[in-house]
Amino acid sequence: MIRPTDTARSPRTSTLPRTSARPPADTGYRSTRSELPRMGQLAVDITNQGQIIDLRRTPDAHARLPHGRADGRYRCLACGHRLILQRPSSTNSRFTPRFRHHTPASGADRCPAPAQHRADIQADLTTMLALHDQLLRVVPQTALSLRIDPDLTGQRWEIPPALIVRRGEQIVVLERPRRLLTPETVAHRITTTRTEHGTKAAHWWVFDRDDPLHCDPAGTINVRPYDQTITHTKVRPTPAQRQLATAGATVCWLAGDTLLIPYGGHQRTYTTHPGEDWSGDMASWKRDWTISHPRPADGATWWGLVPQPLLALGKRPDFRPATAHTTMSALQRAEQGRERHRRRRAREHAQLSIQATAEQLPIPVDAVAISESTEVPARPASLPHATATVSSLPSLPARRPRQRPSAPARRRGFLWAAFLPRRWRL
Ligand SMILES: [Zn+2]
Repeated sequence: MIRPTDTARSPRTSTLPRTSARPPADTGYRSTRSELPRMGQLAVDITNQGQIIDLRRTPDAHARLPHGRADGRYRCLACGHRLILQRPSSTNSRFTPRFRHHTPASGADRCPAPAQHRADIQADLTTMLALHDQLLRVVPQTALSLRIDPDLTGQRWEIPPALIVRRGEQIVVLERPRRLLTPETVAHRITTTRTEHGTKAAHWWVFDRDDPLHCDPAGTINVRPYDQTITHTKVRPTPAQRQLATAGATVCWLAGDTLLIPYGGHQRTYTTHPGEDWSGDMASWKRDWTISHPRPADGATWWGLVPQPLLALGKRPDFRPATAHTTMSALQRAEQGRERHRRRRAREHAQLSIQATAEQLPIPVDAVAISESTEVPARPASLPHATATVSSLPSLPARRPRQRPSAPARRRGFLWAAFLPRRWRL
């Protein structure tokens, strides 16, 4: 008689590496997971493209799958050895279905994989099963499954098993890496995913916002996509994240129940158009940034992150983050408006420069007739320095020059304002 509850216990929590998938408590994370996954309830089904059988999350699995050795179709995730599916002998039995290593010797069921390797595998599975449970709340009527390349069974894999979401004809493949990614690893996973699921399958790479390996914060940026200024987090993408974006994959970060979708931020300097003067106070306004979206393009110096509730993914079968993309389009419109505004100010600046020069020339006879003053009023200090020094700030409404001519000039009726464009006259 096999006692199913004793021999295949999972490693203790304390054996998990420091990069365990357990999220910090302050992220608002909620999970239906009550305990770490028990390896005895998980197996790779090599006759079903490496799908991972989870006896706990699919209670009917043990009833519909062949029990026993089943021609070696069940493999241990940690050691790769063949497993035996054991199930209750009757409906009244209290026996908990489980997988057991196929060993000739009777007695305790022991996995020969090193303890650290088993703990690492279990930490990966914990991460993926947590994402599985989160998505199941978002898309409850959807088929979710974990899948791994059967050839990797029992080996140390670089990327945890992928989470496959099927909604009708649409397939979304989600990865959640924990270790550093090499270009070769990323390229291989992209290629195998396209081979297996087709090029129409959406490929998402979900990084943990609190994972220092995969999230390099780079401050914040104030943006104004609509009528209100909001703050976006900026990150420096890793080479792997740039590689993924270039390859057409969707990169995002997960923070509790919020996804952070990136756009690209590129530094730019306006080229000078005829009639513009970007000197002096306008110089800092010549520098700005431009957005690339819906995916960050090559050359982006930083990525801005648009938050979107995970729940919003359930609204579209293809998981397209439409809410975040709409915000990015609004940011692009704001950028265009910002450039129009700044160029207008640069033209006005040029006009003021011309007038200042003209005021130093000999005063025409008709001007002398209305004023004998030789006082030259200071050039209106109209340029809004505060916003110019923060290139990320949205455009502000153009302000008229408020400085009036000196009192003697007003007393003598000097109409210096006559030199200004009509709409600037006070
Ligand atoms: Zn094993």
